[in-house]
Amino acid sequence: MSHHHDHTTGNIKTAFFLNLIFTLIEIVGGILTNSMAIISDALHDLGDSLSLGLSWFLQKYSKKGHNNAFTFGYKRFSLLAALINSVVLIVGSIFIFTEAIPRLFNPVSPNAGGMIMLAILGVLVNGAAVFKLRGGESMNAKVMTWHLLEDVLGWVAVLIVSIILLFKEIPILDPLLSIGITLYILYNVVINFKKTMSLFLEAVPEGIDFASLKKKIEQIQLVHSIHHTHLWSLDGEHHAFSTHVVVPKNTTRDEVCTIKEQIKGILGDIHLDHVTIEVEYEDEECSVLELTHH
Ligand SMILES: [Zn+2]
Ligand SMILES: [Zn+2]
Ligand SMILES: [Zn+2]
Ligand SMILES: [Zn+2]
Repeated sequence: MSHHHDHTTGNIKTAFFLNLIFTLIEIVGGILTNSMAIISDALHDLGDSLSLGLSWFLQKYSKKGHNNAFTFGYKRFSLLAALINSVVLIVGSIFIFTEAIPRLFNPVSPNAGGMIMLAILGVLVNGAAVFKLRGGESMNAKVMTWHLLEDVLGWVAVLIVSIILLFKEIPILDPLLSIGITLYILYNVVINFKKTMSLFLEAVPEGIDFASLKKKIEQIQLVHSIHHTHLWSLDGEHHAFSTHVVVPKNTTRDEVCTIKEQIKGILGDIHLDHVTIEVEYEDEECSVLELTHH
């Protein structure tokens, strides 16, 4: 998932290759054991590998900073990565449904012994990753640890089912678990997709009360009104703000500077990379006309 990115390229590179190798083992193992549950977990890990690979690739890009073609730099490229990831997971999920649903009516017995070995490997690999990351303080590390913990639980579920299958002939358990895991993958895709879409559509970043922000700016002394007020996010972490402020025609240079400082003070809590404040005098016409008044 997109939250797998870390700030050290070396870690990402290692995590990417480990994940990719493990994903390939799972795909081959899933085919050999004829288990849809294993294939579903493989799809999940393919999604993880993809987002790790893309963030590894994009980290090199984002370091390039801005240039004459991309004046905001390459931060928004991570949105593209998240979108590609969602599409891959949706296509993969559809494939799994077309394979697993018919098996509900026509159960095929998977190789339980092989499944147990793959599940133990899955618990060990993901468990080791949780162990390595535990105690991380950053939000990112916490989200990542939680995600890996879910991965471990997914493999524990496969382990339990394969142990049952070893002793009891209930082959329907495999497609049932497969569908469960895939629904869980899709649930996460929807959550990530929503976030990505609101970033693409330049929504106000989560947790910011835009109305009260505007109100506070309008209450600053000498501020007549504001318009063209925009707050958006580049990638969910780096935000940008711009506004036009109308002041009395005799406002002095010092007063304008104070107004700007006060606005920046109001914006203080928000992680802003770009702030643009245009000052307009009452008798001055706004240079940028917009169809909608705001
Ligand atoms: Zn995962
Ligand atoms: Zn505007
Ligand atoms: Zn800027
Ligand atoms: Zn204006």
